[in-house]
Amino acid sequence: MNLVRLMYASRMAKGVDPDGLTRILDASKRNNAALGVTGVLCYSPAGFLQVLEGPPEAVNELYRRIVRDRRNEEATLLAYAETSRRRFPEWSMAYFRGDGIDRALLRGLTSEKAFDPMAMTAAEALRFLTAVATERRRFLQQSAGDE
Ligand code: FAD
Repeated sequence: MNLVRLMYASRMAKGVDPDGLTRILDASKRNNAALGVTGVLCYSPAGFLQVLEGPPEAVNELYRRIVRDRRNEEATLLAYAETSRRRFPEWSMAYFRGDGIDRALLRGLTSEKAFDPMAMTAAEALRFLTAVATERRRFLQQSAGDE
């Protein structure tokens, strides 16, 4: 199947209440599954970093919607490319708090000391998202093994 991967960074608009994030995640899970879109959303007060993977028309339309969404601003496209396989196939939209990420994990992944998506290069952003997804998979496997 023809797939694309899109990554962007943006800032949360001032005045968005904390429930705003919950509503974004609810809408993402609901809509993305129907669109065949998978990905990861990282948020911290420094901003959002999101990767969307799926059919080009679905990803393009979704990105246009997100850019118009006044809950975020300064959306900056980091990467857009065709891909033959998804890197985040199991999540309609996985969510991470960027400022909760272990500093040891950040070191070596980005040139920044703290999670700052607006300052990341495309290569750093993909390395970062891949690393946090790997950590999450490890945690989920461990939890399943403990049961
Ligand atoms: P609705 O059911 O219409 O809205 C869901 C809830 O959000 C409602 O309570 C509504 O009041 C509220 N809401 C909707 N739009 C706004 C707005 N502009 N300002 C304030 N409140 C609003 N959507 C996805 O489907 N998939 C994604 O992966 C995704 N990622 C996002 C990432 C970011 C950083 C942001 C800011 C938004 C993202 N969104 C995503 C939301 C997207 O911009 C649209 O709001 C959403 O897709 C609308 O879907 P809906 O019509 O089903 O939502």
